[in-house]
Amino acid sequence: MDRRIFLVLLLAGCSSPSSPNLAQATPAPAPTTPPAGPAAPPSSGDAGFDEWRGQFRTRAMGAGLSAGLIDRELTGVTPNPRVISLDSAQPEFSKPVGDYIKGTVSDERIARGQRYRSELPFWPGIEQQYGVPRDILIAVWAMESAFGAVQGDFDVIRCMASLAYHGRRRNFAEGELIAALRIIDSGEASRAQLKGSWAGAMGQTQFLPSNYLATAVDGDRDGKRDIWGSSNDALASAANLLAKGGWVRGQSWAREVTLPADFDYSLTEGPRETPDWWAQIGVRPADGRPWSAADLLAKAQLAAPAGASGPVFLLLPNHFAIRTYNNSTAYALGVGLLADRFAGGAPLVTAWPYETPLAIGDRISAQTALLRLGFNPGEPDGVVGVNTRTALRNWQKARGLTADGYLSMEMVRRLNVEAGALPAA
Ligand code: CA
Repeated sequence: MDRRIFLVLLLAGCSSPSSPNLAQATPAPAPTTPPAGPAAPPSSGDAGFDEWRGQFRTRAMGAGLSAGLIDRELTGVTPNPRVISLDSAQPEFSKPVGDYIKGTVSDERIARGQRYRSELPFWPGIEQQYGVPRDILIAVWAMESAFGAVQGDFDVIRCMASLAYHGRRRNFAEGELIAALRIIDSGEASRAQLKGSWAGAMGQTQFLPSNYLATAVDGDRDGKRDIWGSSNDALASAANLLAKGGWVRGQSWAREVTLPADFDYSLTEGPRETPDWWAQIGVRPADGRPWSAADLLAKAQLAAPAGASGPVFLLLPNHFAIRTYNNSTAYALGVGLLADRFAGGAPLVTAWPYETPLAIGDRISAQTALLRLGFNPGEPDGVVGVNTRTALRNWQKARGLTADGYLSMEMVRRLNVEAGALPAA
């Protein structure tokens, strides 16, 4: 039996009147007999879900949706246990950024992207209107849906209802569910078309329903914003999202740079200054070519995403515009580096270093050690964010180490030794 169907049946079985409802701490009330007629949908077979649905119905009507629409679209919907388990999962190992980029910027993708940049007829119109170069849009398209091929076939209404019922991100999921219902109500897409990833990202450029309502555009001017079937619509919509996210026409997104010996790496993730400011302390383009006039006006931030032994970048404002799509440095680097290759740019001057993936236990132990040593990284949660990197930089600087804020296995070991959690080697 398909595992998904099996789990659905299992969950439905758990909430039958004769067995305990595992989803609820308190005993579930017996399902009430649904009155006939469209206004009150029949029980989903899960009393907790029915209760959430009733409360959501009131809130959605308060947001202006009709009872008929809500009941029609939520009738027969049950929580999807696969969505809930994917939402709760935290990967055991974090992929080193270099491995991620090497997987992202593949020869096969570069070749396809280079074809699309000349083959598709709609680029001049999109570039003229939004100022976002085709190479960036093709890279987003590659990353989000393998150029439109992998859009996800989850029912977005059921995904959002499942996430809202589960409760970890209830406000977010209810907002997206209301947005998805509005899309159906508008007639721009049918329920059957409203397919996406388990997290509700839809179409060739993986827009959430709220993104769709606020930002999708009708690139091919046929009267519908079809981000599933029309590449023109999807890519014009992505350009509109990046433009709204602050894309600066005519500027690049980043430059790989070299640093002088004994450089103070605590300047990474720090000030945003012009290329001339950075040049005064020895930060120069790695390829030796001059900055463009437009880029000389940009305020750029230094980043060493794989630490001092990997490539170093000055990130221009357009890097941060890409992050409106997905707020991850690695993701935005992947998009930008792919785009540079589509445009005929050379590979990076400095190779990504080989790194051992860190297990969640390694990351938590390093955070716990930093906390114990008086360098507060925030609550140890295994997520290496800006607070952890800042704490690590401060500890590295205080110990006379290269303060690149990069948590390598060697740093994990040293921290645990100093904090007394590991014997000295
Ligand atoms: Ca269209």
